[in-house]
Amino acid sequence: MIQPRYRPERKQTAASGDAGATRRWVVVWLLWCGPLLARSQALAPAGHTPDVRWYEAAAAMKRLAQSWGDQAYGAVLVLDDHVVGEGPSRVIKHGDPNAHAEREAIQDAQRRLKRTKLTGSILYSTSRPCAACEAAAAAASVSRMVFGDTLQDAGVPRAVPRP
Ligand SMILES: [Zn+2]
Repeated sequence: MIQPRYRPERKQTAASGDAGATRRWVVVWLLWCGPLLARSQALAPAGHTPDVRWYEAAAAMKRLAQSWGDQAYGAVLVLDDHVVGEGPSRVIKHGDPNAHAEREAIQDAQRRLKRTKLTGSILYSTSRPCAACEAAAAAASVSRMVFGDTLQDAGVPRAVPRP
């Protein structure tokens, strides 16, 4: 019997049903971001003044982003009771799909403090950070995240215009 010389293998991706790869990815993700997520929360109820105060600073960043027609997200990074990083969304302004408010705040703090690790800092954002920003925060050793609206509340993110 003649065997076919080429037998295309079924491509194994998470989308095509490789449950093992998906499970491994989830485990890695939880190990990476889990400790940070465990210390993070939606905005504390009114009356918890520090959180509300810094959330207002993040809301100001959101308004700044909206002032140039960007996505309605804002974030600040607070360390030792000072804002050390400011992050209005610059996705539309810079045409950069990764220029999320949280990442902008983290990078701003890293530039200002001239260091990559931001241990002890708290990231305040107007919406729950996306997975990429959670990973960026975990990589930068951000200690806690406090966030406001759900993603739905901020509306559907708009597409980045083509350069
Ligand atoms: Zn993000």
